Amino acid sequence: MMPTAQHERNDQVEADRSSDTRARPTVLELRHVTCAYEAGRPAITDISFSVREGEILCLLGPSGCGKTTTLRVVAGFEPVISGEVHLEGKLVSSPGLLIPTEQRRTGMVFQEYALFPHLRVVDNIAFGLQHLPQNQRAAHVCTMLELIGLTGLERRYPHELSGGQQQRVALARALVQKPVILLLDEPFSNLDPDMTGKMRQDLHDLLTRTNTTAILVTHDHDEAFAMADRVAVLNNGCLEQFDTPEAIYHTPSTPFVADFVGQADFIPGVVENGKVLTEIGEFPNQVGYQGGAKVVVMIRPDDVHIVPAENCTARILARQFRGSENLYTIGLPSGHVVHSSEASTSVYPIGTPVELQVIATHIVLFEQETVSRANT
Ligand code: ADP
Ligand code: MG
Repeated sequence: MMPTAQHERNDQVEADRSSDTRARPTVLELRHVTCAYEAGRPAITDISFSVREGEILCLLGPSGCGKTTTLRVVAGFEPVISGEVHLEGKLVSSPGLLIPTEQRRTGMVFQEYALFPHLRVVDNIAFGLQHLPQNQRAAHVCTMLELIGLTGLERRYPHELSGGQQQRVALARALVQKPVILLLDEPFSNLDPDMTGKMRQDLHDLLTRTNTTAILVTHDHDEAFAMADRVAVLNNGCLEQFDTPEAIYHTPSTPFVADFVGQADFIPGVVENGKVLTEIGEFPNQVGYQGGAKVVVMIRPDDVHIVPAENCTARILARQFRGSENLYTIGLPSGHVVHSSEASTSVYPIGTPVELQVIATHIVLFEQETVSRANT
C-alpha cells in the first residue's frame, strides 16, 4: 500500500531511531490475542505486536478502543479467548492457560496511581520488597528516591504530595521491583496540562536510564510521538498499525490512523494514465491502482502551501492562529476543504483566492471505499 520511496525513508528513520533496540531480544509478544469480558463481544480482537528490551511502546487510540484491556491481558488480570502471550520467551497466556500476575513480574502504574494512603512514601515504595532483609530494602528505596528526585520527601504521606510527586512514587514503587516490563496506563491524565510536558521528558529519561521496557497507554498522539520508539494504534479493539511514530504520521495504513494522529484531509481522485487526477492537481499513482480506480488522496496541512493569486477558484474560508503557525481552511469549488499550515506571520484575509501548492511526495492514497467506511 505504501509508496516505495516512503518505505525507504521510514526504514531509514527506524534504523536511526532504534539502531540500538532493534538488535535486542523480544521481551513481550502478543500473537493474535482476543479477549472478551462478555461472550460474543470481544474488547480486543486478533492483536499482535512485540516489544523489545529497553523499548517504549505506546498503545494509542480513542477511549474504549481496548488499551487498558491489552495491558490487563499482559499483566495477567484477564484471560485470552484465543491467541498467545509470550513474556521473556515463555508462554504466559493462551486459551485455558493464565500464568498468575505475581509470576509475570510486570510492573503496573495506573491512571489514579493507587498509592496506599496510610503508608509514607518510603513504605509505599518498599511495599513489594517484603521478601528482602531490612537493610537491602532500605538501600533499594534510597536509590529509587534519588532516581525519581524525591529524596527528602520519604516521610510524607501521599496526600502531602502533588499529583506529579504521587506519580513519581507510583513509578518508583513499580520500578523498584525491576519489572520485566512496565505497564503505564495513561500516567499523565491526572496532571495539570502544563506539567505533562516536563513529566513526559522526565519519564522518558527515567525509562531510558534504567533501560526499562515499557508499554505506555495514551489517547494523545502528541504524547505517543514524544515518548514512543514504536506506536500501536488501536481502533475498536483492532490493531490498525504498528510502526515508528514517523511512519504512523507520514504513511498511515488506514484512514482512521491518518485522521487520528493529526489533521488530515481526504480529496477524491480517479486514476487515469498512471496518474491520480484530483481537483487540486495530479499526483503519482504510487500504489499502482488500475486505470479508472476511485481513490482518495490524504494530505496534511504541512504539505499544502497557499499563495494568494487572482483568478483562482480556491478560497480562504477560515484562519486559526496557533502561535507558531496559521492554520488555514481552504474551500474548493466542489465543496471539499483542505487545510494549509503557514508561517505565523503569513496573514491573509478570509475570502482571498489562493493557489494551492501541494508537496506530492508526502501524499498517501486510499481506496475511496475504505475512507467512506471509516467515516460511517
Ligand atoms: P480503553 O482503555 O482504550 O479506553 P478498555 O480496554 O477499557 O478501553 O475497554 C475496551 C472495551 O471493553 C470497551 O468497550 C469497554 O466498555 C469494555 N470493557 C472494559 N472493561 C470492562 C469490564 N470490566 N466489563 C465489561 N466490559 C468492559
Ligand atoms: Mg483505559
